[in-house]
Amino acid sequence: MDIVKGNMGWIEVIVGPMFSGKSEELIRRLRRAEIGKQRVQIFKPVIDQRYSKNGIVSHSGLEIASELVHTGSDILEKVTPRTEVVGVDEAQFLGDSVVDSCVRLADLGKRVIVTGLDTDFMGRPFEPMPRLLAVAEEITKLLAICMRCGNPAVHTQRLVASEELIVVGAGGMYEARCRRCFEPQLAQQKFEEEKARGGPARPDESGRGAAAAGDEKSPGGEAPKSRSAAL
Ligand code: ADP
Ligand code: ZN
Repeated sequence: MDIVKGNMGWIEVIVGPMFSGKSEELIRRLRRAEIGKQRVQIFKPVIDQRYSKNGIVSHSGLEIASELVHTGSDILEKVTPRTEVVGVDEAQFLGDSVVDSCVRLADLGKRVIVTGLDTDFMGRPFEPMPRLLAVAEEITKLLAICMRCGNPAVHTQRLVASEELIVVGAGGMYEARCRRCFEPQLAQQKFEEEKARGGPARPDESGRGAAAAGDEKSPGGEAPKSRSAAL
């Protein structure tokens, strides 16, 4: 941000596909705020709790303590008047109310830093992130590395059979892809094939139908721990 006078708040949004470093960047900004002795509160959706119940964890293993919330309105209720910086991870899972909550907090003079997937597993805008981008003072769009060809990756490729928007699952369910290698219909096609074969057509291996890009962050690609993911 440029020079900010008085105690004006603002909204910073960090978007990009899974594995693009959104959580890392959020953790970096929040740690710097803490170093600056600012009062920080950090939130993540309940859906994202398999990997670490009390913290935000990046795919590379960085971690910071956080509180769990179900919707964007829960954040408003939990933020204390003294808090100066509010961090929110995986905002695409918090519903429309996350936009109003962020606006209210910024209006109250707080710095709000939010991450989320800007597109879903089919490459479509992932609500409510587009609305958050519209009201943000500052936007950072990160790219991952395409797992097929090594180019900059803007998409989250779902590798398993499903037509649900949200599928939170174990490692190997999603990977980053560039625009050339992205196959938006892949998950849907696999789903149709399984159905035609009379197979289970499961939304995901945990039996929950949730997530657009759910990921569970397993650092270094090792076996999944108990965290969730999503993006
Ligand atoms: P996000 O929150 O956007 O899903 P994270 O901050 O959790 O991303 O993880 C970013 C880290 O993931 C990178 O620093 C890198 O160590 C790791 N990583 C794994 N796969 C990829 C990939 N395809 N492209 C870039 N980074 C990757
Ligand atoms: Zn590619």
